[in-house]
Amino acid sequence: METVSSIREFHNVLNGELVPASFGRKIDSINPANGKVWARVPGSTAEDAENAVAAAKQAFPKWARYSAMERAAFLRQIGDLIAQHGEELAMLETNDCGWVIRETSYGLIPTLTSIWYDAAGAASVASRGETIQLSPTSFGYTLREPLGVVVGILPWNAPLFTFTIKAAYALAAGNAVIIKPSEFASVSSLRYGELLNTILPPGIVNVVSGDREVGEALVRHREVNRVTLTGSGNTAKAIVRSTAQAPKPLTFELGGKSPNIVFADANLEKAVEGVTTNGIFTGNAGQICVGGSRILIQRPIFEEMVSLMKEKMREELRLGDPLDPSTTMGPIANEVQYNKVRNFIEIGVQEGGTILTGGRSGEEALSVKDARFSNGFWVEPTLIQVQRNSLRICQEEIFGPVATVMSFDTEEEALEIANDTSFGLGAGVWTTNLACAQRMIKNLQSGNVWVNTYRRVGPELPFGGVKESGFGRDSILENTQEKTCVIEEG
Ligand code: NAD
Repeated sequence: METVSSIREFHNVLNGELVPASFGRKIDSINPANGKVWARVPGSTAEDAENAVAAAKQAFPKWARYSAMERAAFLRQIGDLIAQHGEELAMLETNDCGWVIRETSYGLIPTLTSIWYDAAGAASVASRGETIQLSPTSFGYTLREPLGVVVGILPWNAPLFTFTIKAAYALAAGNAVIIKPSEFASVSSLRYGELLNTILPPGIVNVVSGDREVGEALVRHREVNRVTLTGSGNTAKAIVRSTAQAPKPLTFELGGKSPNIVFADANLEKAVEGVTTNGIFTGNAGQICVGGSRILIQRPIFEEMVSLMKEKMREELRLGDPLDPSTTMGPIANEVQYNKVRNFIEIGVQEGGTILTGGRSGEEALSVKDARFSNGFWVEPTLIQVQRNSLRICQEEIFGPVATVMSFDTEEEALEIANDTSFGLGAGVWTTNLACAQRMIKNLQSGNVWVNTYRRVGPELPFGGVKESGFGRDSILENTQEKTCVIEEG
């Protein structure tokens, strides 16, 4: 049993200070690799939401008055600070959501710093408008202004990434920010907010952890001027309802059921990596919104491809201690999700799917038996062959290390299956035929299409979904509003 002293306590970051939740409520943070409580975070209430909005609202005008170049200087300093604290932040993220250290440390932290530097560079874009000559004696022009208080609601699978993408561009544009991390993974965000506050003036970035109660209070608040959610479709719908009485711009980054399509003429070596390891399993054990969870393979290469995929998975996927740099797959991030993923594997089998590899969970899924992790939320990387795309496991987001595999004959059929989903977040196409690639890009209903690569995201590339995968982008311009002015000769 854990001793009380070994459990770390984290606090909300409000107006530059570290404070507990009102009424002292706390939420246990469970390390998903061993099922043990390792930290406690505030279980904030509507009262904390009120305090956060008041702090942000008060801080906003001063921040907005800084020039774009001055704000950029702050953001560059934050980028440097995050790089300096990279090891600590990567460890927190790994302990809190099980995302393996080789990804949080070598992939995530450099991405976070590059987002801060990119946002610094983008700050001046937020202050650029247009000039429109209306007549010889009059002209119009547009001003871009910050919105005010921006609320970012985070999911549990990628707290630091979503925190950064929401806060960096909002700050660059001159807004004040409130971040509400997921009740399942708040630790890294609370510490991140604390670090940011060593550089920023108080109240510019506030972090309140808690469940939907505090989330709802924030999004419905009349003094909140924009809400950006990364999360599920159901939460997006709840936010639309909550904001109906005080409408504001909404950005939704939601779920996916992304097809990853391999044509017979593809470079198979690249495609195998692109649909198995990099496509889904090494992306936080499949807990990534763009996970290529529906693998479509053209019939002539189906058998060969499946056998190469199984071999690649056997060789490269190693489930175990997330803090060991040689581990390539961690656990499922929390118990609720663990049960959901296992349930979906069962459903897949009941629906007539055939497990090609994987399927086991719990201790049995570990690559090497290790008593320290026997109570962790482990699920083996699993491929399920299916004959129809109408099955629940092909239509509903599983959000774990489970992908369906299906064959197709023609390009038209691949396209039809790929688009036969309510989601539209990512899509992969593997082919050496440029004309085929171009047709697929044009016709795939997806916010992102990758050809002969997969899951390439970064600050240089806009990112977001279509259909039920959401709308809007966490870009600099979405954090501004336009004012149109007209001046006539006096
Ligand atoms: P979730 O929707 O359950 O929760 C997300 C956040 O919303 C949490 O912080 C939660 O407390 C808060 N919340 C819940 N109800 C609320 C309400 N009524 N008002 C305000 N806030 C509320 O999602 P999750 O399970 O944490 O995350 C997984 C989901 O996120 C998956 O669907 C995944 O695809 C999606 N996701 C999408 C992207 C993307 O960029 N498109 C990235 C990562 C995750």
